[in-house]
Amino acid sequence: MNIKRILVLCLVLLAMLMGLMSYFVMAFLQNVKEVESEWLKDSPTKIQPFGSTKTLSILPLVNWHTSGDNLKGEAGVSYLIKTDTQTILFDVGFNQKGESPSPLQYNMSELSVNLSDVDTVFLSHHHLDHSGGQSWVNQNTFSLGVEQVDLSSKKIYSNTKIEYPNASVTAIPQATAIGLGAASIGGIDRQLFMGRITEQALAINVEGKGLVLIVGCGHQTLPKILTRTQQVFDQPIYGLVGDLHYPVPEGRLRFLGMNLQRLFASGQGPHAPIDQATIDKEIEMLKKLNPALVALGGHDTSDEVIELFSQEFKKAYQHVRVGKWIVVAQ
Ligand SMILES: [Zn+2]
Ligand SMILES: [Zn+2]
Repeated sequence: MNIKRILVLCLVLLAMLMGLMSYFVMAFLQNVKEVESEWLKDSPTKIQPFGSTKTLSILPLVNWHTSGDNLKGEAGVSYLIKTDTQTILFDVGFNQKGESPSPLQYNMSELSVNLSDVDTVFLSHHHLDHSGGQSWVNQNTFSLGVEQVDLSSKKIYSNTKIEYPNASVTAIPQATAIGLGAASIGGIDRQLFMGRITEQALAINVEGKGLVLIVGCGHQTLPKILTRTQQVFDQPIYGLVGDLHYPVPEGRLRFLGMNLQRLFASGQGPHAPIDQATIDKEIEMLKKLNPALVALGGHDTSDEVIELFSQEFKKAYQHVRVGKWIVVAQ
């Protein structure tokens, strides 16, 4: 084959590649438009009174930062949430290395948290870093470790239909009470470049204070989380604990040199990654609510943004670190 032919072949291949990429980008943008118009049409009804709790304590079990060398950190999420009447396991971590025990199980043991004390499992969304790994997501289930432990005695809530052996998982797509003073704000869709995802945050109604929102990844975006909360609840927002998907300037997860969290999870496509201006605007939005508690995790929030939140929210700010209790009311 002469050089001219090779050049023509290369040009044809390049044109095909560019055509394919444009097709994916166009399809993605069409999906974004659909999700946004569904959101604008959505008018959820108020949730029925669901009570309150006098006490609330939150223990990060899996996150990027830890409070001690004896604990394992990773880019996954799990919290233990204790109210007057419930002990909730919120998400089950990533177990990125497929370890046994998983970082979640290891940290639970180090922190003397017994699974038998947990009565409720609440899954924010069905992504690998909240469900125990991609292999479980592929099987439409989740796991605390390399083997699925017995959860038959627990109430399990997810916003999408998933399964767990010998246990029943209740799918709650809309805002739903899951216990006294505990409710999902309902699933909110987001079209990411890597696919559509529905995520729900948990609202805990603390007596005399208001709602504490616990957020897994924050794909929904802060403006939509706040709007939905105000649509379905009458109580004021007292605090927010979790991650808000602010991987700026860089996220934690890299693949083939690409910054996955920043490029593929902006909701606008790889050509428009999440930027600082959006974060600044959202900080101002949250400040207007004058929250008494803001605690950000380092799972998909960069250290730079964590530092910025700590400066902006001053005394209201607390770090999310594995092993460090966030005591809201006791
Ligand atoms: Zn996610
Ligand atoms: Zn996540």
